[in-house]
Amino acid sequence: MDKRAREKKKTELSSPTEKIRSEEKKAIRKKKTGVILAIILIYLVVVAAAAIIIDDRHIEIKLNGPEVDLAEVGQPYTDPGAEAFLTGNLFGRGPTELEVKTDSDVDVDVIGDYAVVYSSEILGKRAEIRRSVHVRDTTPPVITLEHEEGYLASWLVGYKEEGFSAYDSHDGDLTDRVVRTEADDTVYYTVTDSSGNETAVERKIEYGISEPMIRLEGGEELEVGAAFSFTDPGYEAIDESGNDLTAYVQVTGEVIPYELGTYGLDYTITNELGESATAHRTVTVVPQKKVETVFPEQKTIYLTFDDGPGPYTARLLDVLARYDAKATFFVTGNGRYYDEDYTDMIGRAYQEGHAIGVHTLTHDYAAVYASRDAFFRDFLAMEEIIYEQTGEYTKLFRFPGGSSNTISRNYCYGIMSSLAEYMTNMGYVYFDWNVDSGDALGGAKSSYEVANNVAAGCLENTVNVVLQHDIKGFSVDAVETILRWGRNNGYVFRALDESSYDAHHGINN
Ligand code: ZN
Repeated sequence: MDKRAREKKKTELSSPTEKIRSEEKKAIRKKKTGVILAIILIYLVVVAAAAIIIDDRHIEIKLNGPEVDLAEVGQPYTDPGAEAFLTGNLFGRGPTELEVKTDSDVDVDVIGDYAVVYSSEILGKRAEIRRSVHVRDTTPPVITLEHEEGYLASWLVGYKEEGFSAYDSHDGDLTDRVVRTEADDTVYYTVTDSSGNETAVERKIEYGISEPMIRLEGGEELEVGAAFSFTDPGYEAIDESGNDLTAYVQVTGEVIPYELGTYGLDYTITNELGESATAHRTVTVVPQKKVETVFPEQKTIYLTFDDGPGPYTARLLDVLARYDAKATFFVTGNGRYYDEDYTDMIGRAYQEGHAIGVHTLTHDYAAVYASRDAFFRDFLAMEEIIYEQTGEYTKLFRFPGGSSNTISRNYCYGIMSSLAEYMTNMGYVYFDWNVDSGDALGGAKSSYEVANNVAAGCLENTVNVVLQHDIKGFSVDAVETILRWGRNNGYVFRALDESSYDAHHGINN
């Protein structure tokens, strides 16, 4: 359009003035509304941005109770919990309590370290906090002591455990792990559980039987005469309360009863704890008191008959009885070995008032002189036969071969000296002879020679110990002659006793 046309049109449009003005107002109003909306929008955007920028709200979460908590194994665990707040200002709003979620793996039945996690969430915000829970056993075990009513310990056997048990709440029965010791009349029991908790208890021991006193019958210093055997005079062990513990006494030490000297004996009771109650005794072996020799005032003949009894002993006893003469028989055990056993003649001789002495059981030099002990054994065996026959042991004896024999040298050097001493110390009296009838080694072969030898010998002495053998018939047959001769010459015929003259020859071995 050209300029004119445009003008024209312009003129046309504004020709009605009112119409043009309302059109303009509308456009202005439209424009205003848009601006307001834009301003509001900008405002909202600014406010939102400001809100985001200035909103300091956050979740604050904190633990009740400690960060590391301890729980007893087997016991319920009470979780102290946690608290969470939404905090921080936004347009003046204060803290808001939030819900807390708890996540726990705590197992109170198993010792260990556990975690409890507390968390809280809101508005896309999240916070959490942790607590360690240590499940532990801190409870010590319990020891239970049993007691038997009326039970008392004794010195002898000590304390006999009455029983105990140990129980732990976590480990269970710990009885096998109790360590038990005894000291100063107290028993100590201790036990430790697997977590190291220790329990100790003690028990005072009460005693019934106390340490006994050992009392020695016959005293602590005992003197005894030499003998073949020693018999302890006795002892007793009694405690304060009168309990007899004698049966528990052990005696140690040795007394050689035929050997002079001082010996020690210990009497001991050892209890089960290894403690001892003791007493000590010294025993001194001294020689037996020697019976004083008494020489008869009257002329005396002691007829002695060795090596029997035998087949002629009865005849001999008859003759002696007829003359009311007493004699002495040094007997052996050989009377048993004849066709008939003549051992009972020992009893008869004794009954008829004759003396009986030992001449050993076997009269076997090799056997009796083999050793001191061999002699003792043989001697004592003969003593037993004599005891059976007479009801008594005899103190009289004659060595086979006499004390002066030299044959014993073949078997044991010095044995005669030794035996003579031992036997004398023990109170035995050995006899030799001062008149030999010659019926054995002296060459006499007849009653006549025997009687002659005896008479000749006796003429030289007031007190005569005559050697004969009643196992020789001719010697026995000489006895009546001897008795008549003696009587006619003022002699009495007596039996030997411990006080009689012993007619010792002197020892040669
Ligand atoms: Zn003889």
